[in-house]
Amino acid sequence: MGDEKSAPTRVEQQRLRALPSVSSLIQHPAIAPYAREVGARSLTRLAQLVLEEARQAILAGRATGDVVAVLQRRLQKLSQPRLRSVINATGVIIHTNLGRAPVSDEAARAMAEVAGRYTALEIELESGRRGGRMSELSQLLSLLTGAEAGLVVNNNAAAVLLVLSTFCAGRAVLVSRSQAVEIGGGFRIPDVLRQSGARLVEVGTTNRTYVRDYAEAISDDTAAILSVHWSNFRIIGFTVQPELGELAELAHARGLLLIEDLGSGALLDTAAYGLAHEPTVQEAIAAGADLVCFSGDKLLGGPQAGIIVGRRELIEQVERHPLARALRADKTALAGTAVTLRHYLRGEAIDKIPVWRMIATPLAALEARCQTWQSALRDLVETEIVATDATVGGGSLPGETLPSRALALGAEAIAEVVPGLTVEELARRLRTGQPPVVGRVEADRLLLDARTVLPEQDEALVEALRRSLAIS
Ligand SMILES: *Cc1c(COP(=O)(O)O)cnc(C)c1O
Repeated sequence: MGDEKSAPTRVEQQRLRALPSVSSLIQHPAIAPYAREVGARSLTRLAQLVLEEARQAILAGRATGDVVAVLQRRLQKLSQPRLRSVINATGVIIHTNLGRAPVSDEAARAMAEVAGRYTALEIELESGRRGGRMSELSQLLSLLTGAEAGLVVNNNAAAVLLVLSTFCAGRAVLVSRSQAVEIGGGFRIPDVLRQSGARLVEVGTTNRTYVRDYAEAISDDTAAILSVHWSNFRIIGFTVQPELGELAELAHARGLLLIEDLGSGALLDTAAYGLAHEPTVQEAIAAGADLVCFSGDKLLGGPQAGIIVGRRELIEQVERHPLARALRADKTALAGTAVTLRHYLRGEAIDKIPVWRMIATPLAALEARCQTWQSALRDLVETEIVATDATVGGGSLPGETLPSRALALGAEAIAEVVPGLTVEELARRLRTGQPPVVGRVEADRLLLDARTVLPEQDEALVEALRRSLAIS
């Protein structure tokens, strides 16, 4: 038919005429109450859109659905914020799709408080003079990591970009071939280097890189050695990577900077909880890295942020770079990060920071919580408590698991409560409920892993299950 639109057929004309007018649609009893939620103008606009889509569908010979129902669904969605709290029963602690690390209650309160009030962001209250927004955080970071100073920006991608832009633009940066990696979500080391204006010089091979590979690649043009932690993958077998300390020695002997992108930025030792050892920020500083970049919302357990720690004069140079303003963190992130860092300072991180509490919870406690869920549902549905493997997630500790316990709902047990309800459909009902619950489906069972469900969400989880198993 080409671009030429043929005239509507008689059937189409009938269907078009059957559509309600905008004014009768917005006065429909199922729609009118929403005028209060979204305002009369937006309601009219939305009704026009829905009717226009219906007209297009009719002209294309497609089904339209009931326009009242379509508009009602849109309005319902619109009046419910999409970013609501979710119960994470996946067993993945730092779940990227579920917003990474939940912050501690204290951090959440601090963030809410500075969001809704004025705050002494850039004023020294004693003198009344303008003061840096970063001095408190820099001091906390210095105490915790052994670095001279620190700086908080929008996220770790920003931290790495900013550091490279400040020190390496127009010059060469040495990166091991095994570390020219993609972290996910568009963060690729070669692309970030290019964006900063630096030139990537790959050294060594994919599985083996020696200190001498770096040494041989140094030229007058070289600004830095960049070391990138293998966050989300491992290379095993016939491999060699130099120790960070060896790279520091080489870099400093040749007048280069050693920059470490640590990714997760743990301050505590994951090996204490049966996991592999994730390199800590303190270790990277002690090994001689000049600047270390890491995320605030991975194993640190704070709000989204990127943290740079290192030598004071270098941190000050980073702060003065024009991009620092564009990449800076907002006041809520600064407040939440400061509270999170204080948990470490007071030695209470394991009890207060959710990701560490989840990592450290003993198996017996998870078993007990699954039993509580099971008893609360006993009158309704038959469940099983099964052994599972939880993971740290968020691109940390790939392949490492923490033993866990999950409540399992099998296909038969589900169908016994609601005839015809499948495991997948139950999982969908839970995801679309209020609050949404995200579990995982494995071998025709729905698993709800206790390790990642916050204990204060236990009752809500049971209630959500009851609602989703109601017949309808
Ligand atoms: C996660 C990660 C990043 C990106 O950090 P964001 O906080 O997501 O911006 C960069 N580098 C490494 C090694 C990472 O693991």
